[in-house]
Amino acid sequence: MSLISSEQRDSATELLKALLRINTSNPPGNVAPAMELLRERFEGKGISSTLVGETPEQVNLVARIEAPPENRKHRPLILSCHLDVVPADESQWTHPPFSAHDDGTCIWGRGAIDMKGFAAMAAVTFETLTAKKESLNRDVIFVAVCDEEAGTKFGSKWLVENRPDLLGNDPEYVINEVGGFTVHRKGRRFYPVQVAEKGVAWLRLTVKGTPGHSSLPGQNNAAATLARAVQAIDEARLPWHPGREAARFIEGFAAPEGAIAQKVASLFLNPQLGPTLLKLLVTDKSRRASLEAVLRNTANPTRLSAGEAINVIPGEASADIDGRLAPGQTAEDLIRELQAVLDEVPRCDYTLEVLETSPPVSFPSNTPLFEAIEASLESADPGSHVVPSIIQGFTDSKNYATLGATCYGFYPLKMPEDLDFASLFHGHNERIPIEGFHWGIEVLTTMLTGFLTEDN
Ligand SMILES: [Zn+2]
Repeated sequence: MSLISSEQRDSATELLKALLRINTSNPPGNVAPAMELLRERFEGKGISSTLVGETPEQVNLVARIEAPPENRKHRPLILSCHLDVVPADESQWTHPPFSAHDDGTCIWGRGAIDMKGFAAMAAVTFETLTAKKESLNRDVIFVAVCDEEAGTKFGSKWLVENRPDLLGNDPEYVINEVGGFTVHRKGRRFYPVQVAEKGVAWLRLTVKGTPGHSSLPGQNNAAATLARAVQAIDEARLPWHPGREAARFIEGFAAPEGAIAQKVASLFLNPQLGPTLLKLLVTDKSRRASLEAVLRNTANPTRLSAGEAINVIPGEASADIDGRLAPGQTAEDLIRELQAVLDEVPRCDYTLEVLETSPPVSFPSNTPLFEAIEASLESADPGSHVVPSIIQGFTDSKNYATLGATCYGFYPLKMPEDLDFASLFHGHNERIPIEGFHWGIEVLTTMLTGFLTEDN
């Protein structure tokens, strides 16, 4: 029996379209009109919500359903979404990115997947749970944040640091992006559910030279030294750090294929054999890159600076490096790995400093909530496989984790085989399949209704 009526499904679709028509590109990240739309919608349904934030444009919305005190046996559960989106280059789109075009199969728009689709889905689920509040075993908190796409400073980070009370102070669980969507592979359907995120280590490499007049040859030019150092970092294959997060992820995809495939997958984790085997056996370049990224730290030079005048040899040059940390790794570990690379660069007098860092996060996959998520996906799509996954990027979960919450990427979305989730995420022509979106509302509501009303 469906828990969601056809009116609720239509209302979710309309809410999604209304959110997509509001341009919340970040930068500048003005989400206020989208937050106001949600606030008014909730108010119309008798749900009060709070708007808070550092600035009037960068605001966050929080609403809470309180379980009856006699039923309240557990710490709160949070449904979290962000309403800011990455910018869109309209000239590259088939339909304008803020038009919410409906072609009968998909709704198009920047944010359809990342992640206004979940905002609409979670809002309708939250409203359904409000009607069942008398039987809830814990408080449920709906959070819509700003600023996720620009680093979370004014969004979840701000909330965690300034208003943890609104987040229940010590929430037990957070349901957030990135996971719960269908991945089609060799005739099988998988549902990655995110349980880990890599960490961040933004570094600055500075090299020294000897300033001088640039009319003379053969000088100790910091710009030239930096070029050699950057090339060495770009070509370096940093050591493997296979953790249980990578193992669960890589072996989870191989398991349905049988013992041999599983054995090969486990060899990818081997620090000696893994790098070569991955190169030989995974021919698809983007798949290989995403597998390699979960097995080791990465470091990509992204910003360079040297010299002020065209006729002066620069005495100093620097490169900013976007470093990402495998589970268990720290910024200091990555610096040691880069030092080993840079020490081999001839005549390179350098320093490495940390500009900003946040640790990798990882959550257990043997909790009652994970089991409920797994069961809900397997029953909504019989024969599919749920895989605990790790992502290379970060989400708001890294901040919620500091409150002691266990965070999962669970945004249930049935994707047809010809629509690839990864290419839509931040891509041109981002769109969400309507049928799969409605399927997701049902899966999320059914799972949470069971989980929040049963003894567990
Ligand atoms: Zn997102």
